[in-house]
Amino acid sequence: MAKRRRFLALLSATACSTALLAGCLGNPPSSTGDSTPIPVARNANLEINTISLGFVPILEAAPLVIGVEKGFFAKHGLEVNLSKQASWGAARDNVVLGSVGGGIDGGQWQLPMPQMISEGAITNGKKVPMVVLAMLMSQGNGIAAANTVRAGNLSLDLKTSSPGFFDKFNQKQGRKFRAAYTFPKANQEIWIRYWLAAGGVNPDKAVELLKVPAPETLQGMKNGTMEAFSTGDSWPSRITRDQIGYLAATTAQIWKVHPEEYLAVRSDWVDQHPKAAVALLKGLIEAQMWLDKPENKDEAAKILSSRKWYNIPLPVLQEALKGQYKLGARGIPETDPRMGPLYWSSDRGVISYPYKSLTLWFLLESMRWKFFPGTVDTIEQARAINDKVTREDLWKQAAKAVGVPAKDIPTGSSRGKETFFDGIVYDPENPQAYLDSLKIKK
Ligand code: CA
Repeated sequence: MAKRRRFLALLSATACSTALLAGCLGNPPSSTGDSTPIPVARNANLEINTISLGFVPILEAAPLVIGVEKGFFAKHGLEVNLSKQASWGAARDNVVLGSVGGGIDGGQWQLPMPQMISEGAITNGKKVPMVVLAMLMSQGNGIAAANTVRAGNLSLDLKTSSPGFFDKFNQKQGRKFRAAYTFPKANQEIWIRYWLAAGGVNPDKAVELLKVPAPETLQGMKNGTMEAFSTGDSWPSRITRDQIGYLAATTAQIWKVHPEEYLAVRSDWVDQHPKAAVALLKGLIEAQMWLDKPENKDEAAKILSSRKWYNIPLPVLQEALKGQYKLGARGIPETDPRMGPLYWSSDRGVISYPYKSLTLWFLLESMRWKFFPGTVDTIEQARAINDKVTREDLWKQAAKAVGVPAKDIPTGSSRGKETFFDGIVYDPENPQAYLDSLKIKK
């Protein structure tokens, strides 16, 4: 009975399981016209045949949705119950509950959320150990600016495009420039802080940073609640398309093939069900490979745009998935798919593999901005947390099992040196040198 109640509770939170898509309460059949339930392959070897994962309807969640819709998880014996999370805070609260408590076992995360949930730093001290298992997507995020600051010509390099703009704006308005994100102290805040600081603008002095719930962002930008917004696509694309503002910079411009959001699951779930965790990764890897193929982009956009999933106009998602942007205050079209969202391959190797060198970077930025005093104050602490939370072994097992060529399976924990648009280099061998090279910090 308890199990049934829990199941219904998940359904009412817009959860749709693979096996139940056709009859999901109140939801119409998928607009793809193919809503036949995909039978979950019997796999007696798995410790469990189901997992509850949360997602937020942005491009980062695409591999999870495609894994469900195209049957990649079912093929490996796992029924993935995906439930849309009302906010990142709701996702955090639901993973603390766990599926046993009516919540979720894991899902899509901005970093360092899984690390900080593990440490109790964003859960009122309650430590819920989690493991980061794979990167879901690289790139595909951006910083949108409102029409009210179009004359400011905000672009990737603020030093050249907009010298003195922020001081002039703040003086004229009698208040600070407002920049928003959907959850504090994670990817989106980190991107906007990096961008401002690289442009010589101190985010703690010249800007008011604020949290705005994703559904309120379009209206908020229209109404002047904020002048800039940092988020995952399709939001920046919608802001441009609806002529509410313009795309000042993409995250791909800030750091090519950068780490973005990740799949992370509660440690207790993974420890109890290691084979099922590998099955989850097998399905994810196959979904990412499928998503990366140019010939599948239109079908992916169609699936994601449906009311059941994102409920976003199809052309917005088609453009976003293909990396078709209109950049800058003048809206110059850019159509380089390699600057759009990446799910599987890149000139830096596979996207999906959870390199510790990349997950560590979010903890270094946390140090830079003093996000979690008492938890991440030193490189030693950052490394210890990172080593505990990021797991590369299960990914390797899964990749091998689905036939990823050995040359594409990383052997180490470091992707090597990383270079940002402003010339800053992050050498994972020497994180202190990276922190020292950053001029603006807290
Ligand atoms: Ca993101």
